[in-house]
Amino acid sequence: MAQTLIRGGWVLTGAPESVPVAGVPAHSDASPTPAAIRDGAVLVDGDRIAAVGTYDDLRAANPHAVVRGGAYDIVTPGFVNTHGHFSEGLITGIGSQYTLWEWLQELIAPVNPVMTRDKAYAGTMLQGIQMLRSGVTTANDMFCSDPIPGDPATPGVVQALDELGLRGVLSFGSGDVDRDFGPAPILDELRVLEEATAASRYSSFRVGISSIGRYTDAAWEQHIGYAVDGGHGIHIHIHEVREEVTAARQRTGKTVVGHAAATGMFDVPVIAAHSVWVDREDRQLYAEHGVGVAHNPVANGILASGIAPVAELRALGVPVGIGVDGPASNDSQDFLQAMKTAALLARIRDLQATAMSAREAFEMGTIGGARALRMDGEIGSLEPGKRADVVVFDGDSPALANVHDPYQAVVFVAGSREVKDVWVDGELSLADGEVTRVDPAEAVARARPLAQQLVAEAGLSRLSALGGAPLEGTERP
Ligand SMILES: [Zn+2]
Repeated sequence: MAQTLIRGGWVLTGAPESVPVAGVPAHSDASPTPAAIRDGAVLVDGDRIAAVGTYDDLRAANPHAVVRGGAYDIVTPGFVNTHGHFSEGLITGIGSQYTLWEWLQELIAPVNPVMTRDKAYAGTMLQGIQMLRSGVTTANDMFCSDPIPGDPATPGVVQALDELGLRGVLSFGSGDVDRDFGPAPILDELRVLEEATAASRYSSFRVGISSIGRYTDAAWEQHIGYAVDGGHGIHIHIHEVREEVTAARQRTGKTVVGHAAATGMFDVPVIAAHSVWVDREDRQLYAEHGVGVAHNPVANGILASGIAPVAELRALGVPVGIGVDGPASNDSQDFLQAMKTAALLARIRDLQATAMSAREAFEMGTIGGARALRMDGEIGSLEPGKRADVVVFDGDSPALANVHDPYQAVVFVAGSREVKDVWVDGELSLADGEVTRVDPAEAVARARPLAQQLVAEAGLSRLSALGGAPLEGTERP
């Protein structure tokens, strides 16, 4: 298979530091791959990274390799989006006047029963295109709709990601509280998704548990059992809002973290989304059990949920990644916005410009996310042997004409418009700023009538201009 040499004025590998970068404190653990390489390149052979080094060295050693990227570009690992919901793919920019529990009741609950496979496919296509445009190569997703017996929706997500060439870690996180169907059809859909991901080149499987309040004790235990028996990881929302902690204490006598630990959930790899309201004991439990955290700064801002204690978690060694969260709660799927907002929120919380550096945010967006998903042996940094998930930022763009510090350039300066190429598994899923395998105009045309249908079926016309009636309640006086 042909080799490709991906060139950049800077190659930010995401690997532990061994060569110091001006103004950036060095990591303590040495690595053969430096964190940042000036005039560097990444050699891709098939679906793997074969070598990382200076462009001159790699060019001389591999004269027949095809060169992409240029002398001013910035090359980074693919970004790892640690939390999202493709099930919300057709309801962006709606309902942002609500806090979480109101939003779940007014917007998400009515959509859940009518989220069919064709809508899942169309919504995933729209959101996946946006993720690729912002440099995401892996998306950890939880599909949260109700199961529709005989017509499972989640294979629509697998299909769309396969067609786009975007890596997915997919879970199904419906619940059975206040539902007349019980846990059985939910577990059936889990099996369907597990089979669909097993047949996919790009997607893998986790068990989803949306949040404790949606599960009866029986369903909670069955889901943990499914994960333990099958050797699967779990993807769950934990302590997104304070109400959740109170309700859990009233029901179980423990926080959700404490209850999860006591019921054996942490015996398998767990990624906990949000974790805004985790106290000292909760954080300690995460550290003891190696629980990963998905930090969702934009969604936490839109729903006014709070600011997660990222610095405290990281200080304990808890792996923290960044998530865009669902298209109905973020509402953008632009990962670069989320990474920048992570740094801004930390600085605003502490009123310190040093609270989170651009480099720390970058590391959370890449290797930190991979660690939180326990996939850091395969993805998250540009190191030989790992999967070739690579992003090239356009160094000839006005925004990146002068790169004084490559981490600040990526995190604070660059937007999706500066993302030029995205490789997933050694193949270009985005080239010269556009997806290579699907037609975005077709994806838009397919999604529009389905979104309109969804608004009608879910009775959302008071919240949506697509319903044809005058809007009510979208803004408070
Ligand atoms: Zn979420």
